[in-house]
Amino acid sequence: MRKIIKYTNPKVVAVTGGIGSGQSTVCNLFQNLGCKIIDVDIKAKQIIQKDISLQRELRKVFGREIFFKDGSLNRKHLAHLAFRDEAKTLELNKIIHPRMVAEVIEEMETARFSQRYPLIIIDAALIFEISIEKMFDVLIVVYAYLEYRVKRVMERDDLKRTEVLARVRRQIPLEDKKEWADFVIDNNGTTDDLRKQTEQIYEELISDIQTEKRIRV
Ligand code: ADP
Repeated sequence: MRKIIKYTNPKVVAVTGGIGSGQSTVCNLFQNLGCKIIDVDIKAKQIIQKDISLQRELRKVFGREIFFKDGSLNRKHLAHLAFRDEAKTLELNKIIHPRMVAEVIEEMETARFSQRYPLIIIDAALIFEISIEKMFDVLIVVYAYLEYRVKRVMERDDLKRTEVLARVRRQIPLEDKKEWADFVIDNNGTTDDLRKQTEQIYEELISDIQTEKRIRV
């Protein structure tokens, strides 16, 4: 006999921040709590991998070296080319974002329909940049001081300080995003502090979620 819980009105929550602020770490914590995570970066990668016409467009703008010989995307090289010049960043966004948004909506609706999750979390750095913030019930911004962010990304991605700062400059300032948030998670402390804040927000968000319990024999 198995007890099944159905979440009949899940919330769709966007977790955003700036590069290195700890957004992915927060999403992992939500995943451990049983939430559905839709990682927009991974989605973008999958779209590029399967969409031949999009690959053609990217090759035209960035050159054939953005793909490895086996056809897979050289993400690091594409990021390097795209972020060093603002016009190129815009071009990349124009090619990828519309398709990415469509896929995210589809996955979001599938998760909602399944009624398996109390919260559907969208892990997305650029929701304000691509103006999709209205799609969500709740907005969480993960905030950390610039110095911490730079240090963490240099370590995570093996990048130079100037490279990290160039990427930071392509994004809307985190201070502005904070103003638009329903919840701000402060990630200037330890990962344990981060976990506690995430769990607290989780409890608050699920407090009015309706559930149906069914017994399956
Ligand atoms: P984002 O997704 O916002 O770019 P991540 O969640 O990947 O950022 O965090 C950037 C890096 O910093 C990762 O390697 C992560 O493990 C580390 N990190 C995140 N939060 C903390 C913290 N509070 N203390 C130390 N390292 C952290």
